[in-house]
Amino acid sequence: MPRSISVLGSTGSIGTQTVDLLLADPGRFSVKALVAGSNATLLAEQAITLRAECAVVADESAWPVLRDALAGSGVQAAAGHDAVIAAAAMSADWTMAAITGAAGLAPTLEAVKRGKCVGLANKEALVCAGDVMLRAVKQAGATLLPVDSEHNAVFQSMADGNHGAIEQIVLTASGGPFRTATIEEMRAATLEKALRHPTWTMGAKITIDSATMMNKGLEVIEAARLFGLPESSIAVLVHPQSVIHGMVHYADGSVLAQLGSPDMRIPIAHCLAWPQRIATASRRLNLAEIARLEFFEPDMERFPALRLAREALQAGGGAPTILNAANEIAVDAFLKRRIGFLDIVATVDRVLQQLGTPAVSSLDDVVRLDEAGRQAAQMHVGAIAA
Ligand code: NDP
Repeated sequence: MPRSISVLGSTGSIGTQTVDLLLADPGRFSVKALVAGSNATLLAEQAITLRAECAVVADESAWPVLRDALAGSGVQAAAGHDAVIAAAAMSADWTMAAITGAAGLAPTLEAVKRGKCVGLANKEALVCAGDVMLRAVKQAGATLLPVDSEHNAVFQSMADGNHGAIEQIVLTASGGPFRTATIEEMRAATLEKALRHPTWTMGAKITIDSATMMNKGLEVIEAARLFGLPESSIAVLVHPQSVIHGMVHYADGSVLAQLGSPDMRIPIAHCLAWPQRIATASRRLNLAEIARLEFFEPDMERFPALRLAREALQAGGGAPTILNAANEIAVDAFLKRRIGFLDIVATVDRVLQQLGTPAVSSLDDVVRLDEAGRQAAQMHVGAIAA
């Protein structure tokens, strides 16, 4: 039986790479739902090529384009938030959660509730609603598979099951485009420079998060949730070659690592086929050609985002929700050229100080706090941009 798949965020960087893998092995997979934000043209093209059961666009203004493009194709089409949730609830054997930001939370939760496999790329959902999400995973008996390359590497390095003997995990970071830049150079950084990632090709939001190193901060929180580890057991190492993606240190002194070319098709394929493996056309690793692997401690002075994320994780409660919400607003403002590069993390810092650490116990609490974080960040951004 082919494995039935839904892709939430099919038109994005992770989504299109997932679609490429599905197309490469059509006998192995059948496609239930594809979901996008507003890119109805690409969504319709993907749905027809993959013979999807349905295609849904979140932005209702994109509905006429989707409807016309899918007329007579046999693919059901729909638009709007409720339709996105209904698509996520279609009970696919395996769902890719690859919508960017907290917008992906509700559909990801809906997929989790079906009790099947969810490939999690959308780290923001786990950062902003960690306990709620993990409770839902447990209640439904769902399997959360880490798509993020570092977490996928750690997951693969934990395959022998000796979790009680883990001393530490290590998430590697490329260091982004400003790895060696001075604070003054970062203050003057243009959007174009910040979007020029040295090793990975990704969507705009995560590329800016990589440049501030907030991405690594979000990943530390994501790792704590996924692997049930304290903040102190999660180390970060800057590794500019992006060859080793994650490592696990065990009590006997062994260190297991996963290596590979910096190509998201590798962790996506690992999750898609798990517990088996499928072939990808990714570039094969040639260590003799690479010759040198370097590692550095992250510079917390120049990259305070990592410190803020660690503090939010330690503070617990709603702090990670606020951190994520403020960061989404600040990154969006930077992408729209309303604020400077250093203003991104400064905004997150101010909002965290302003809102403190409120308790969160339900999805409603998360949604309220996410909104409060966004509003506070909008005010700070407005003041900077004025
Ligand atoms: P992109 O911006 O490239 O893609 C985002 C996808 O989400 C698009 O399909 C977009 O549709 C869709 N989308 C946006 N808003 C909504 C909405 N409100 N409702 C439904 N769909 C929506 O992001 P990436 O693929 O880079 O990243 C996706 C997630 O994966 C992020 O959480 C990121 O942190 C994580 N991730 C990404 C990696 C990468 O290599 N790219 C690596 C590791 C993790 P449309 O195209 O129509 O706007």
